[in-house]
Formats: sequence, structure tokens, C-alpha cells
Amino acid sequence: MILDAAVILFKCDRTRKTYGVTVEKQADGDWKRAWAFPISEQAAHEEGYDYTRANGTLDELAGYPGCPYCGTHAFVRCSCGKFGCYHGEKTYTCLWCGKTGQVDMRDRFDFSGGAK
Ligand SMILES: [Zn+2]
Ligand SMILES: [Zn+2]
Repeated sequence: MILDAAVILFKCDRTRKTYGVTVEKQADGDWKRAWAFPISEQAAHEEGYDYTRANGTLDELAGYPGCPYCGTHAFVRCSCGKFGCYHGEKTYTCLWCGKTGQVDMRDRFDFSGGAK
């Protein structure tokens, strides 16, 4: 049973392309990734996709396919609130806001600090 669903936009750091990730609200209130599909930023904007409602671990559900471009299942959440593919880099540059910083592995790949 799907309680609620939203689409979060991710950017692929390998291809610099945008994709949408469908996230579903679980019975315990957590949000998890269910599906990923290619979409342009323009189209996502026109669809009115928001990425503010979904909060939680964003763990993947069974069958989550990974990034449609590079196939990774790992992601970084920048302190600007946006998401991108992750491939194990120690420092990461956010394709949304341009900020570069250290990836904090203890905090579910959250990405904070660092200068532009
Ligand atoms: Zn990717
Ligand atoms: Zn950012």
C-alpha cells in the first residue's frame, strides 16, 4: 500500500543529466526510493515535482533500479537540499549549487561545509 509518493530530482555527476526518483512514504513515516527515470529539469518543473515533502532515510526499496544514466544506487544530499549520484569521492561538488565539500559518511551521505 502506498501512503504517499513524491518525485525528487537528482543530478548524475557522471553525465550531468537530471533524473527523477519516485519516493514512497512507508507505514512508519519514512520515505524510500522506489524508482528512477530520466527527465529534464524543464519537464520536472512543468510537472510540478517537489522535493520538499519527502523526508527520511531514502533507503531503496526492492527493485529500485539506480541512476538511469550511470547505474549507481548511492547518493549525496547537499546542504542546499538537492541530490546527486555518488561514487565514493571524498570531496564532492554539487551540480545544483556548485558547492564543493567533504562527504560525511556518518550522516547518510549528507554533504556539508566546504567553500565554493
Ligand atoms: Zn548517475
Ligand atoms: Zn548543493
